[in-house]
Amino acid sequence: MTPHLVVIGTGYAGLLAALRAARIARGRVAVTLVGASDQLVERVRLHEQAATGRSVAHPIAALIAGTEVRFVHARALEVAPGRLVTDAGVLEFDRAIVCTGGSVDLDLVPGAREHAYAIDGDRMSRLFSEARRVAARGGRLAVCGGGLTGVEIATELAEALPGLRVKLVAASEIVPGLSRKAREHARAVLGRLGVAVREGVRVTAVAADHLDSAAGPIGFDLCAWAAGFRAVPLLAGLGLPMAADGRVIVDAYLHARPDLLVAGDAAACAAAGGGWLGAGCKTAMPMAAHAADTAVAELTGGTVHEFRYADPGYCVSLGRRDGIVQFMDGAGPRERIVKGAWRRGSRSRCAATRCWR
Ligand SMILES: Cc1cc2nc3c(=O)[nH]c(=O)nc-3n(C[C@H](O)[C@H](O)[C@H](O)COP(=O)(O)OP(=O)(O)OC[C@H]3O[C@@H](n4cnc5c(N)ncnc54)[C@H](O)[C@@H]3O)c2cc1C
Repeated sequence: MTPHLVVIGTGYAGLLAALRAARIARGRVAVTLVGASDQLVERVRLHEQAATGRSVAHPIAALIAGTEVRFVHARALEVAPGRLVTDAGVLEFDRAIVCTGGSVDLDLVPGAREHAYAIDGDRMSRLFSEARRVAARGGRLAVCGGGLTGVEIATELAEALPGLRVKLVAASEIVPGLSRKAREHARAVLGRLGVAVREGVRVTAVAADHLDSAAGPIGFDLCAWAAGFRAVPLLAGLGLPMAADGRVIVDAYLHARPDLLVAGDAAACAAAGGGWLGAGCKTAMPMAAHAADTAVAELTGGTVHEFRYADPGYCVSLGRRDGIVQFMDGAGPRERIVKGAWRRGSRSRCAATRCWR
């Protein structure tokens, strides 16, 4: 019998894991990709969708065409040992890789779920049309969250819709994982685009037309929520060890259970310096590739290796004409950054800066 690998989730991690497993298994393992969505949503470009209304999703059917990956369009409901229960039936498996990801945390403060737009796939086109309507009458957009997502959304919308009065509210300083130089450049670009930045202001609740905060009420006509992180709770309740943000704690091989690997934003993987690797594409994709290698090796009698990760740094877009590439070393962000715009033909810019074009 050909062993069966089931990969759950059609984000960057799930798609990569399924494609890689099918390629390296060369028919020795049957690979099924299960997704609640039949699209890959390019989440790292959602802020572009918010500013243009253009979809950043791609059909899974086209992305797996010509491979041996079988796609099942279904929502996973329960992962029992060797058995996946979905809303379209039950799949038996020998190994599963769970890549169900997560999103910003709308339950972080009261009212966010009711009154704010989460920076997430299905709401970005609505945010775009609302932002245009608000901009047309010179209204106010409050962006809550000073991490990369909040800064990217604030700069993108401020640049695309100059009539919009954008406020960025951050509980600590903005882009906390980046270097002082990077932070200064982000502040300079936000200032140039007319974004009012409130750092060190913790939002305590969201009402229909204002934020409650320790610094008093902050009015808005439209609110975008880019704060906190929560993993999809598919594996909650199975008795597996979990991190505080709902990610499942995995071992050095990315196993949560002998039959179950977890990769991407769904996984809490120990970082070399302590704590967990941050949720992000740059961690999700190497984890997914490693989980695919591990699953195929285990199912075909190959050798498995521990997962090792070296942080490649950050690429941050600040609208269409500016950005930051932050270089890292083992201890954290270096004061070495590339900033500004990539110009065609320029030799002075690192090729990585192209990713914000
Ligand atoms: C605006 C924005 C900008 C970002 N920029 C960057 C960046 O510059 N660099 C970076 O490294 N990271 C960035 N990120 C983070 C990055 O997008 C995520 O880390 C990445 O998407 C994680 O990939 P994933 O496959 O683990 O999860 P996701 O992309 O969240 O995919 C999860 C998949 O699982 C599916 N799913 C969920 N539940 C179920 C279920 N029960 N059954 C079946 N399917 C299910 C979902 O439909 C989805 O297809 C950004 C995020 C945002 C929102």
